[in-house]
Amino acid sequence: MQLENYIRDIQGFPKEGILFKDITPLLIDPLARKKCLNILLDSLKGQQIDKVVGAESRGFFFGILLAQELNAGFIPVRKPKKLPFKTLSASYDLEYGSASLEIHTDAIQRGDRVLIHDDVLATGGTAKAVCDLVEKLGGEIVQCNFLMELTFLNGREKIKNNPIFAALTY
Ligand code: 5GP
Repeated sequence: MQLENYIRDIQGFPKEGILFKDITPLLIDPLARKKCLNILLDSLKGQQIDKVVGAESRGFFFGILLAQELNAGFIPVRKPKKLPFKTLSASYDLEYGSASLEIHTDAIQRGDRVLIHDDVLATGGTAKAVCDLVEKLGGEIVQCNFLMELTFLNGREKIKNNPIFAALTY
């Protein structure tokens, strides 16, 4: 089974000129989903993980599966004003303007070993903001992992201080 066959290209989404990688075929298929999860888990080589941090919103799907398999806590990083408790916020640049992400301040304890997960590493802005939040709370980043990396956007440059793994690369 080829994981690539479960990623669908959508031309012009969310706006013209963008080729969007749609992961919903992967989510639908239990065997493909399991295979993808195992690839991500294998890359961790049995390392101890205390918390998995998933980026809104597509980072939640495999983030929670990873946390379950690793017997770790799951922490959602969300868009502004979505989290109900006290939050810490980090902003990052977009093509036009900027955006920010938030985490609950009590989600990570100093020294926690953290796995950061999102579906796609594109320009790296999202992943960098999540790394900043985890580091500010004293977490130790064990790995940033992704279902796929769009290598031509060179997002890994922004998070190069951390181990990076992607199940698929384009
Ligand atoms: P970055 O901040 O690295 O430029 O973009 C990564 C974020 O945008 C991720 O949270 C991801 O969900 C979303 N993203 C960007 N491009 C794509 C894409 O082609 N497919 C999917 N599924 N998500 C994308």
